[in-house]
Amino acid sequence: MSDLTDPQLGMNRRITRRDFLNGVAITAGAALLPGQLFAQGEQVSQTSPDYYPPALTGLRGSHPGSFETAHRLRDGDFWETAGTPQDTGEAFDLIIVGGGISGLAAAHFYQKFAGAKARILILDNHDDFGGHAKRNEFRVGDRTLLGYGGTYSIESPEPYSAVARGVIEELGIDVSSFPKYLDRDLYGSHGRTSKIFFDKETFGVDTLVDDPYPFPGGETYDLNVAAPDAWAHFMAEAPIAEPARKDVARLCRDKKDYLPGLNAQQKSARLARISYERFLTELVGVHPEVIRLYETVSQPLFGVGIEAVPAMDAADTGYPGFGGMGIESDGLENERKYFFHFPDGNASIARLLVRKLIPSAIPGSSATDIVSARANYAKLDEQNSPVRIRLNSTAMRVKHIGDPVRAKEVDVAYFRSGKLFNVKAKHCVLACWNMMIPYLCPDLPDSQKQALAYAIKVPLLYSNVVLRNGSAFDKLKANSIYAPAGYHTHVDIDLPVSIGGYQCPQGQEDPIVLHMSKAPCQAGIAARDQHRIGRVELFTTTFETIEHNIREQLARTLGPGGFDPARDIVAITVNRWPHGYAYEYNSLFDSFVLEGGAMPCESARKRFGRIAIANSDAGARAYTDEAINQAWRAIGELKGSS
Ligand SMILES: Cc1cc2nc3c(=O)[nH]c(=O)nc-3n(C[C@H](O)[C@H](O)[C@H](O)COP(=O)(O)OP(=O)(O)OC[C@H]3O[C@@H](n4cnc5c(N)ncnc54)[C@H](O)[C@@H]3O)c2cc1C
Repeated sequence: MSDLTDPQLGMNRRITRRDFLNGVAITAGAALLPGQLFAQGEQVSQTSPDYYPPALTGLRGSHPGSFETAHRLRDGDFWETAGTPQDTGEAFDLIIVGGGISGLAAAHFYQKFAGAKARILILDNHDDFGGHAKRNEFRVGDRTLLGYGGTYSIESPEPYSAVARGVIEELGIDVSSFPKYLDRDLYGSHGRTSKIFFDKETFGVDTLVDDPYPFPGGETYDLNVAAPDAWAHFMAEAPIAEPARKDVARLCRDKKDYLPGLNAQQKSARLARISYERFLTELVGVHPEVIRLYETVSQPLFGVGIEAVPAMDAADTGYPGFGGMGIESDGLENERKYFFHFPDGNASIARLLVRKLIPSAIPGSSATDIVSARANYAKLDEQNSPVRIRLNSTAMRVKHIGDPVRAKEVDVAYFRSGKLFNVKAKHCVLACWNMMIPYLCPDLPDSQKQALAYAIKVPLLYSNVVLRNGSAFDKLKANSIYAPAGYHTHVDIDLPVSIGGYQCPQGQEDPIVLHMSKAPCQAGIAARDQHRIGRVELFTTTFETIEHNIREQLARTLGPGGFDPARDIVAITVNRWPHGYAYEYNSLFDSFVLEGGAMPCESARKRFGRIAIANSDAGARAYTDEAINQAWRAIGELKGSS
């Protein structure tokens, strides 16, 4: 806990969360503008000129207004009072539930086989399209700053499939050109490197120390580097016992075989059965304070701490300790080979797909000018457009009109602005979350519903905080901070990428966007149970609590660099994802990973009559390429029933 009072933390300060709408100040007591209502979770028509969700601050991600109706469906009380849906009278070739990258890619693939005139309706419960690939925009003075509210970059542990790569290329993204847009020397020219923040509750003192071995998998790509003299500083200053400091050095520097006598295959099998924590404790034999130091380091990537990450997955990611084991692991080699980060993350991919589907909605013609282009939301759902995106619309029921085997049409009921509608189509793709589908399609076989329910998504919090300037980071020589016991465990300045007319912050006096991430979980139980608990935590934590925690954490971490939270925080957007990454199977908890047998996602994604299932859960992989792969498969399955 900090000794600072709420006013000292700036809890009473005017920031864009409360006082600005699309960069325009609103005076206290002024009549509510439509956009302000919208920011509070009320629904304003997406045709309103004020409708511009990327610029909304406060609680975003699964924002108020986006999930309540779906939860009523889950709780079983929706249909009691829902009444009869009002028929919109529209008829489509395809209705897609979910406007994330999978849903948008499904529309793109459907057009390929059914032609550009095919009538497609995309429904999404959020006020913006893109699903997890969300854009955060900020106005500070006369400049626009961008942040990623979810999906960070094109990267994947597996090579992109020909299909996924084909979409990226068709959108005009030249992945190999990324180095052209990245200012590799910027952090170095400011002397910024990786740090660890030790807090006094856990380590006895608040202090920022050089991180001698930044773990891979963070969000500063290969710019997440140690200072040249980091080891000397760490050994002298880290507030952990001396044997623990020596063990950190031994772990990170020695190349030792901790499973002598086993061949590579036997080692991999053994490492898949123990956690990274057990590997460190039992095989490397580290001091308990090393565990305390690293127990949360894996959370943003895996959604759980190192007690629930299989040691083999840690080895595959390039975590320290495996260099002398003789097992095959290329670390994040593949991710580094095929990597592209837009300042708004893969929201640029979503926006490029939308521009391809509805050209009038976003101006421009290249994969770089998309970054600064302003979307016109009024164009998304126009009657004469073959593709329409209807936001703030939660699908509540998807059923065949008649017997699923012989039916010629699917009926979709959706809830929007307090009203229930229904609309028909020849086909339907469910590009939403697997666990929602059993509620949407009660007619599915029970075994498939069970398989769908297996996919418990990983909860994540991505908070973007705009600071008046980056001078505290320069004084402290930091660009990336790991906080083992922090509310947000990782704090990063976004990669310095300038592209398509967008200039990343350069000088010490420029405002910057900080990215803070947290994966709520509870150590000691199975990963999926941890995710369930973390999800409830995210849904029940208020913006004010998160804001308080952000201010306090930054005050304590950056205070010695002259940072004042009351003065220096300009805006906060908290992207809350209680249903975040797709669940990836874990060899510690999912017996079929090691013992063999069908994976739940295979039976979960089976086509049901004219309804096919896309989305990244369908492949149990939390990556953009998987969302595209699954869209391709789903559309392929529908081709036979035209
Ligand atoms: C915080 C975060 C960071 C990530 N970072 C990366 C990264 O750096 N690189 C990478 O490759 N991948 C990353 N991923 C994973 C990647 O974002 C996903 O794999 C991919 O975007 C998923 O796309 P999707 O369309 O399947 O699902 P989503 O993006 O979740 O889209 C599905 C949409 O369907 C909507 N929906 C659900 N139910 C209904 C309903 N009943 N009616 C209407 N709409 C509904 C959802 O609200 C959502 O908008 C990240 C994920 C998260 C959460």
